Amino acid sequence: MRFASSFFDRASQALNRSPAFSKLIVVFAVSSGGIVAYADAKSDHVAESSQVSGKKKLVVLGTGWAGMSFLKNVDASLYDVQVVSPRNYFAFTPLLPSVTCGTVEPRSIVEPIRNIVKKNGGVKFWEAECFNVDPVKKKVHCRSNIGTNRDGNGEFTVDYDYLVIALGAKPNTFNTPGVVEHCHFLKEVEDAQKIRRSVMNCFEKACLPNLSEEERRKNLHFVIVGGGPTGVEFAAELHDFVTKDLAKLYPTLKDLVRISVVEAGEHILTMFDKRITKFAEEKFQRDGIEVKTNFRVVKVTDKAITMTNAATGEINVPYGMAVWSTGIGTRPVILDFMKQVGQANRRVLATDEWLRVCNCDGIYALGDCATISQRKVMEDISEIFRVADVDRSGTLTLKEIKDVLDDICERYPQVELYLKSKQMKNFVDLLRDSEGNPLKESKELDIEEFKKALVHVDSQVKMLPATAQVAAQQGNYLAQCFNKMKICEEYPEGPLRIRGSGRHRFRPFRYKHLGQFAPLGGEQTAAQLPGDWISIGHSTQWLWYSIYASKQVSWRTRLLVIGDWTRRFIFGRDSSCI
Ligand SMILES: Cc1cc2nc3c(=O)[nH]c(=O)nc-3n(C[C@H](O)[C@H](O)[C@H](O)COP(=O)(O)OP(=O)(O)OC[C@H]3O[C@@H](n4cnc5c(N)ncnc54)[C@H](O)[C@@H]3O)c2cc1C
Repeated sequence: MRFASSFFDRASQALNRSPAFSKLIVVFAVSSGGIVAYADAKSDHVAESSQVSGKKKLVVLGTGWAGMSFLKNVDASLYDVQVVSPRNYFAFTPLLPSVTCGTVEPRSIVEPIRNIVKKNGGVKFWEAECFNVDPVKKKVHCRSNIGTNRDGNGEFTVDYDYLVIALGAKPNTFNTPGVVEHCHFLKEVEDAQKIRRSVMNCFEKACLPNLSEEERRKNLHFVIVGGGPTGVEFAAELHDFVTKDLAKLYPTLKDLVRISVVEAGEHILTMFDKRITKFAEEKFQRDGIEVKTNFRVVKVTDKAITMTNAATGEINVPYGMAVWSTGIGTRPVILDFMKQVGQANRRVLATDEWLRVCNCDGIYALGDCATISQRKVMEDISEIFRVADVDRSGTLTLKEIKDVLDDICERYPQVELYLKSKQMKNFVDLLRDSEGNPLKESKELDIEEFKKALVHVDSQVKMLPATAQVAAQQGNYLAQCFNKMKICEEYPEGPLRIRGSGRHRFRPFRYKHLGQFAPLGGEQTAAQLPGDWISIGHSTQWLWYSIYASKQVSWRTRLLVIGDWTRRFIFGRDSSCI
């Protein structure tokens, strides 16, 4: 601790003395918004009992992006906060592909959750897995995965008044036979470590004497199933590892290596702008990474991957190592909970715009395990009309509409998106009288005309992507709601209640897209930034470095990651198979 304090004292003195150094730090800090200043070295002693404090029990499940962001921002002095997660750390998932090839070391991208919350004194952490949520008794059932407790089975329950579910998701195999047994996933730090070992094992195996060339080629065929951002980034990392580092160590094998990306759709990176997709496909072609689009994997055995395509039919492709990266599925504990709360027919847990699980009291869900079920304007159209029609005349004047405009736009974000898509400046531009002319001040609209004006706005209802950006913003939003729970009960800040009276306590969650990156190898990255601004190339790679460094949750990991990148620039990646 003394070392940490003195180190940072020295660092801050250096910052004051050296403007150049401070500029460097600023580059890494810009655009972060999420920098965590180093935590105070003094740790607060935790008061154990909530019965004594009389505080409401707030239980958080999960220490990923959503859980970590919530815990960092919630005021733990207001609640008895308890966290349950089988991982006692937070992992910076966007750098997992870099861990697979040793560009970054695993310990550089993880931060103990206790370190993250120690400033927020009073948070209790239980390293365990939640296997059942009981919304009736308001309990979560947990099982410790580190030995046993007094009962001998490691199980315990935690009571809650408020429950925040941030359990993330599991890889989706689409029930394809053989995937679980023979493919790697890339979801957790352990997965990345296994992949790193497996890549090296494939090379060492291909080196062994008495192997035919065909066997060597098979061992060195790396197949990535799924052409999304994770699959593409891993393929690019692997290609860099092979060409820049392993080619020097295994000169006789370098020409036998084959990297294939198998994608069921027509293109890779379909969530990105077409220009990025095209650039990525052309770059992979130049680099010799085979992109097999329109191929669907139907079976995996220890020897081959079976895939089908309309033109070729079914083919068997021998492989040395396969990574399955085709998206995410729902965790069993969430599926079980969904059955209990009447959501069995849904694919993912639904919440309202305030992240409250539908039909549940005091339960919130965020991040990859949940989706916001955005209320449709047309479902509420009669109620919207009723709320706006203050004088109960059965028609709406322009003034009546203008008076509720802000509330409607806040409650139904699709309205603003629709106006943007039609290049309209104002909601009023949507409104037409019975002859189809722009509505004049003197004219009034009846319910049918009002419906007609808004009939298409729901086409802009969008599901949020399953990304760290969404999860972190949701965690922060919900923490702020909990922090101002009391004050907003008295002074609600949300929009008018359309079904009911008064105002909502809080503003609904709004996602702010800050852009996304696709690293493509060879020190080149593509970025799609807000406003559909596209940037591709070496300079974007430097933007990627600075943003990912700045987004680290602690100075410790930030310095470790920068150190790893520097080490890689100087010495290359380490190919030891440990
Ligand atoms: C390789 C990779 C690269 C990615 N790159 C990016 C990127 O560049 N940009 C981006 O925005 N997103 C990226 N993502 C997506 C991003 O990581 C996820 O969207 C994000 O992690 C979701 O956050 P979450 O908190 O919902 O879930 P997670 O971060 O997965 O956290 C879930 C937490 O729940 C815990 N948990 C699981 N089961 C239980 C249980 N039964 N009981 C208690 N706790 C449990 C887990 O241990 C974990 O702590 C990437 C993902 C991967 C896998």
